Amino acid sequence: MDKIKMITPLVEMDGDEMTRILWKMIKDELLLPFIDLKTEYYDLGLEHRDATNDQVTVDSAMATKKYGVAVKCATITPNAARMEEYHLKEMWKSPNGTIRALLDGTVFRTPIIVKGIEPNVRTWKKPITIARHAYGDVYKSVEMKVPGPGKAELVFTGEDGTVMKETIHEFKGPGVLQGMHNLNKSIESYARSCFSYALDTRQDLWFATKDTISKKYDHTFKDIMQEIYEKEYADKFKEAGITYFYTLIDDAVARVMKSEGGYIWACKNYDGDVMSDMISSAFGSLAMMTSVLVSPDGNFEYEAAHGTVQRHYYKHLKGEETSTNSVATIFAWSGALRKRGELDRIPELMTFADKLEKATLDTIESGKMTKDLALITTLEHPVVLNSKDFICAIRENLEASL
Ligand code: NAD
Repeated sequence: MDKIKMITPLVEMDGDEMTRILWKMIKDELLLPFIDLKTEYYDLGLEHRDATNDQVTVDSAMATKKYGVAVKCATITPNAARMEEYHLKEMWKSPNGTIRALLDGTVFRTPIIVKGIEPNVRTWKKPITIARHAYGDVYKSVEMKVPGPGKAELVFTGEDGTVMKETIHEFKGPGVLQGMHNLNKSIESYARSCFSYALDTRQDLWFATKDTISKKYDHTFKDIMQEIYEKEYADKFKEAGITYFYTLIDDAVARVMKSEGGYIWACKNYDGDVMSDMISSAFGSLAMMTSVLVSPDGNFEYEAAHGTVQRHYYKHLKGEETSTNSVATIFAWSGALRKRGELDRIPELMTFADKLEKATLDTIESGKMTKDLALITTLEHPVVLNSKDFICAIRENLEASL
């Protein structure tokens, strides 16, 4: 069989621990035998990040800007324990944070739905994708404990010296205070990423805030989204047969619980933080969530939503068998390959991505799965496979379908 040819390389960002082990298995078993895989390789493993003073992370982000599509393995975000474990020169920043900042992108997280792993919410039949605005609000807030009686004010001093002032509260006793901000520029980028991803995946886009209470702060989010939609996207949405829908956050939550899924739910920073965990646990498993970073100018970086599965890695190092779920990492690859195929007009690559995903889901539906899924499946008598055998079982299905 001839291998599928590629034109433009994918930006390949390798990572850490157990997911790095899975990464190689996926390439060896599921990709290299079938595709003349063209990638530009960046080793984002912690050792190499340290050796390059994290330059490799910046380079990989710039390559993503150049080529348009990347696939990323989970990586360690260093903390004090990792500093010691890896004898790091510095506590390097989260690679995801660095890449997101350089691409000015938004992360879209989507559950992978498969028979046998049923969502806790009965009505959910299709995935609900969460888009989280990842700048500002409470995450960049300034806080104060108010010790006792006094007046709190919000003061803005313009560069030209103009002063705007609002009384927040006249404290009669102790309390707390918080000041937060956001930027029109960041909201605009977010809006464009959301609208272009909705078009890309042909799904409706929902957005919700508490604008009835927050008449300036939240209302600005609502207004910017609406303005950009009308100016730049309304016609394209009509053409694609999808809609943009704004509602209050409480109404959105009520509707989400009664919906059957199949749309993108754009959230402000805090809502997205909370709701994405709710969605992923209600759909079954963190190991079944994919994630894609979309920049406003249309660059895509695909990855699994989970981390490096550290505990399994230490077992693996001791020579013990692991049963680590590779589904989200496989879907990161299929997502990236499909996008590359679409951009370079290589239908075989797009079909391959579809078949790889189907082979993966068929494997689970036939009762063969990793331990994490076996613990929650509704299928009777699941067969628990180790990390390697699960990937090999997918390969059998894939070969049969090619
Ligand atoms: P984790 O996602 O690796 O693990 C969280 C829990 O879920 C663990 O109990 C783990 O066993 C289980 N789990 C996750 N994925 C699984 C899979 N594929 N198969 C089976 N079980 C799975 O998150 P963590 O333990 O908080 O973090 C470990 C490391 O990963 C940290 O160093 C962190 O910085 C990093 N991390 C990276 C990313 C990323 O690169 N996108 C995201 C989160 C965490």
